[in-house]
Amino acid sequence: MQIPPLNPAIKNAPAWLLEGSKHLWMPYTQMQTVPMALPVVATNGVRLTLNDGRELVDGTSSWWTAAHGYNHPHIREAVAKQLERMPHVMLGGIAHEQVLRLATRLAKLLPGDLGHTFFSESGSVSVEIAMKMAVQYWINKGAKGRTRFVAFRGGYHGDTLATMSVCDPDEGMHALFKGAIAEQLICDLPTTPEKVEAFDAFLKAHKHEVAAVITEPLVQGAGGMHFHDVETLRALREACDRHDVLLILDEIFVGFGRTGSMFACDAAGIVPDIVTLSKALTGGTMALAATVARAHVFEAFLGESASRALMHGPTYTGNALACAAANASLDLFEREPRLEQVAAIAKQLTKELEPARAMKGVVDVRVKGAIGVIELESIRDADEMKRRFVEMGVFLRPFGRIVYTTPPLVIEATDLTRLTDAMIVAVGEN
Ligand code: PLP
Repeated sequence: MQIPPLNPAIKNAPAWLLEGSKHLWMPYTQMQTVPMALPVVATNGVRLTLNDGRELVDGTSSWWTAAHGYNHPHIREAVAKQLERMPHVMLGGIAHEQVLRLATRLAKLLPGDLGHTFFSESGSVSVEIAMKMAVQYWINKGAKGRTRFVAFRGGYHGDTLATMSVCDPDEGMHALFKGAIAEQLICDLPTTPEKVEAFDAFLKAHKHEVAAVITEPLVQGAGGMHFHDVETLRALREACDRHDVLLILDEIFVGFGRTGSMFACDAAGIVPDIVTLSKALTGGTMALAATVARAHVFEAFLGESASRALMHGPTYTGNALACAAANASLDLFEREPRLEQVAAIAKQLTKELEPARAMKGVVDVRVKGAIGVIELESIRDADEMKRRFVEMGVFLRPFGRIVYTTPPLVIEATDLTRLTDAMIVAVGEN
């Protein structure tokens, strides 16, 4: 049986790690060559504790989820209380307070009339639902053939079959599946006046077959942490309005303060027709995602006939434990100064990562909100870089050509410096 190679960063590997690693299929992982995963036995604040007692400052927030740090007592308490009372009931014909309160709060928090939330349990599924919603919106309106999507180079929206089709088809991690998934209309983001004009003409030419335009607003995350500005988003909104096409903003990564405003669409002052949320929605505690629609989208599904309804219903939709975690997370966004903390993180990241710009092999250094990126010509040995990070007492996961951090929004300045120092050292050694 194949055992992942031993990881020199692991000390005193416990039996459950050695035995279990023969059976666990890890995500995005070449199981033959990637060193065994680090055994984490506890989390607290911004720290991960390894089996041998070492603590690592986490610079990733567990794929950008743990906005308030790990084990926040308020979220823990809310989930524990909900667990006592009722962990889950199906939303078929019955509902519960946590899901209804959460839907109400999201409606108040999101801009404009984004007021109708459909819950699922992962980001990819929430994007699938947004896409399905957009296609059925046009069917319900009697428009034929509007089944395709306009998406952007550098984009990433998930790993399921439909979401793969709106990821970057060439550079993205799903390039292998070309020909096996739906072919969408892939464009450059309109980041200059010329590109805006070209995009507008393109949308005009294709509007009869397009259900929606979909993008990650302000930051294309998993596609390489590429940034664009609010003007690009406004241009997309204007083009979609002009040609009567729906606009889906995937705020799964950027939502909940990550780029400096509660939602990226707030910074641009635009209201998408559909927005997807996940990751920090529960503060990194439970799996939950939301697809939120504006009134006109929701109303297109109303009528006497059952066939106009949205035919979707994940078993765990609106899970009570996850909604309790999300409600508690929203309490923290209300009570604690998260956006001020993001502004302070941005300032510190800018100052402390800037010296990398002059280093050999560095292509770019960029910061947006609580996202700090050093882009390199190439990473010589990513596994070795990860091992060095552990040695330096931090957890960071470089990918592609980038070394980045997206720390919990509550990180203290001294811990953030540990992350940025480690990034600079690792880039120097690359
Ligand atoms: N959309 C964006 C912008 C993401 O960053 C991700 C995950 O990284 C997803 C969708 C998919 O979310 P999930 O991994 O929960 O399916």
